[in-house]
Amino acid sequence: LTPDEFRALGHLFVDAVADSRARIERHPVRDVVSPGTVRARFPREAAEGPTPLAGFPSLVESITGDADTRWQHPGFHAYFPANASLTSLLGELLSGAAGVQGMLWSTSPACTEVEQAITDQLARALGLPESFTHDGGGGGSIQDSASSAALVALTAALHRAAPDPESGWRARGATGRERVYVSPETHSSLAKAVRVAGLGAIGLRTVPCTPGTASMDPAALADAVRADTGEGLVPVLVCATVGTTSTGATDPVAEIVTVATRHGAWVHVDAAWAGVAALCPEHRWVLDGVAGVDSFCTDAHKWLLTAFDASLLWVRDAGALPAALSITPAYLRDPASDSGAVVDFRDWQIPLGRRFRALKLWAVLHGQGLTGLREHLRGHIALAEELARRIRGHDGLELAGEPVLSLVCLRVTGDRDGSATAALLGRVNADGRVFLSGTEIDGRQVIRVAFGAVGTTREHLDVLWEILAGGR
Ligand code: PLP
Repeated sequence: LTPDEFRALGHLFVDAVADSRARIERHPVRDVVSPGTVRARFPREAAEGPTPLAGFPSLVESITGDADTRWQHPGFHAYFPANASLTSLLGELLSGAAGVQGMLWSTSPACTEVEQAITDQLARALGLPESFTHDGGGGGSIQDSASSAALVALTAALHRAAPDPESGWRARGATGRERVYVSPETHSSLAKAVRVAGLGAIGLRTVPCTPGTASMDPAALADAVRADTGEGLVPVLVCATVGTTSTGATDPVAEIVTVATRHGAWVHVDAAWAGVAALCPEHRWVLDGVAGVDSFCTDAHKWLLTAFDASLLWVRDAGALPAALSITPAYLRDPASDSGAVVDFRDWQIPLGRRFRALKLWAVLHGQGLTGLREHLRGHIALAEELARRIRGHDGLELAGEPVLSLVCLRVTGDRDGSATAALLGRVNADGRVFLSGTEIDGRQVIRVAFGAVGTTREHLDVLWEILAGGR
């Protein structure tokens, strides 16, 4: 395409995006399809010749338009929504257009330094200690996911626990004695990171929660770490979650830091969903204890109006990730890198290449301002509070715990075995106007309502309530 052809087609494509967002509520949140439906619409072989792109948006619509789950539908309250605001899509366009590969500072100084500046700004806006900024000796990076963030934090922790270049982790890998501590409520990405890092299932210690809560018991953590060190095992990392996936529970970060630092273990905070709430001063409790941790992760692609992928990972020691991950063959040698005066983000992640993700986050910050972002978060939190209020006043439904930020967990009143709640979830989702997901608390089915889609308003809460309460 020439730039002029791109301009003409670009208008068509942007119109298609705008139309599909404007009309999204004409569709159910989820289409009901059987496996293979979409694939069967493709010819076996790719076309030899070119086809005019002007028809591409309608082709995509005809192939996928009745076979999708609409994550941007305002009735999407399942999992944690992934809010791809149109503002962030405009930033994505610029990012794709720049087409840079920011592996080294010198391969795109702009990509690197915008990411440094934006993560520093965000750290300050959230209220993270200055030590997590690039200015303050640490720094933020944008990873593809919280899962990757956990994995790179683990590599830094493994190196820090055995830094000797001849005999340490980088030289000989895992020994089978390294231990990572999680709770039963920690996201499965930690178990995956432990597996990928080669620690094996024995490398993962699941510390129980304080009875009656879904938060890690710091006394049980202390016992586990003491017992392990007594056997010559090495506590490498403790993951503290702020806002667990199931119910939004929070681990006692400060107490975990006290135990972990006594044994030199890295503390990683997984605040994938809840962390962005710290933008609102009244929710800054999500950062309690964070001053003492080594890394902190929150996903802008969950609840901060930014299209997937944009997971923010801050570390307190800017040298920690490069120390674990940097490998420099001749073809990557670079005078700016050798000078030590720049950050090469390739050393802060698993892949070499990286996109200019900071542009979409910058677009969001620019277009919304912190005030707009706080309004967005507070709007969803208010919906959760209102839903909880209605549930408290309803005979057939009960809260499965107090709502946390924008997450409400509920069940059918008195549902001992969870079957009535599971049936209600099925009925609600069959309606098509909303989509909820479930989880279990103490082995019993629970329904989760996570507000977070871009366009969800009070009217959508009313629709949800009509279906939910009517289903009882
Ligand atoms: N951690 C928590 C607490 C989560 O809720 C999730 C996803 O919902 C993740 C990690 C994984 O996020 P990602 O898809 O960014 O890897």
